[in-house]
Amino acid sequence: MRIEIATLFPEMCEAVLSASIIGRARAKGAITVNCHQIRDYTTDRHNRVDDSPFGGGMGMVMQAQPVYDCWKAVCAQLGQRPHTIYLSPKGTTLTQKKVVELSKMPMLFLLCGHYEGVDQRVLDKIVDEEISIGDYVVTGGEMPALVLTDAIARMCENVLPSAECYEEESHFSGLLEYPQYTRPECWEGECVPPVLLSGHHKNIAQWRREQSLAITRERRPDLWELWTKCQNKE
Ligand code: SAM
Repeated sequence: MRIEIATLFPEMCEAVLSASIIGRARAKGAITVNCHQIRDYTTDRHNRVDDSPFGGGMGMVMQAQPVYDCWKAVCAQLGQRPHTIYLSPKGTTLTQKKVVELSKMPMLFLLCGHYEGVDQRVLDKIVDEEISIGDYVVTGGEMPALVLTDAIARMCENVLPSAECYEEESHFSGLLEYPQYTRPECWEGECVPPVLLSGHHKNIAQWRREQSLAITRERRPDLWELWTKCQNKE
């Protein structure tokens, strides 16, 4: 998996991408993630990348030219056109299903907007899909791009120790995960459920399954309805 991130704040992305599991995955070559400074591609003599919106209104809009030239330069480096995603609150809300689908693609180009967004003409020219991380607005596309990159990276081979690490996690199968406990056995008068100390793998698996079903039904009736519908179809 190769992810190219186009941003006005590559240092913000690098700080996150160099740490923890993603940092280690990059260091050992399990995934490649490159950040590109869109400003490097501006032809404006004052190095500008934004201007005020036609029609008036607040804020600034990222101009088409530097974004397009950055994208073309990355396409030339890759020798092909990567699947291109614009992180946007107007996009389709990200789900684990979408993450799995994207993790199977060889290359992705993620465009981070800033200010009021990006000139629509360049979006129409290069973007295959718009993805939102939720129904709220953040100041720039960097954090959404990092959320997407992280979620995709952990689906890639050799990033987590094994597929088991994510297959039982919330959302992978449509359910939420069971509660987790670790040492000590008793803390502040609260002891862990005895079945988890029993060493009886079948009983532990059954307890976890029941917890997973109960938590999903209680907290996310929307997911529960979808999951039960799928079970009835099978
Ligand atoms: N004016 C835009 C609107 O109302 O739809 C919001 C612009 S926002 C302040 C600046 C940038 O942050 C966007 O261009 C986008 O790249 C990113 N962004 C903000 N919220 C997002 C979200 N929920 N999901 C993905 N990207 C988001």
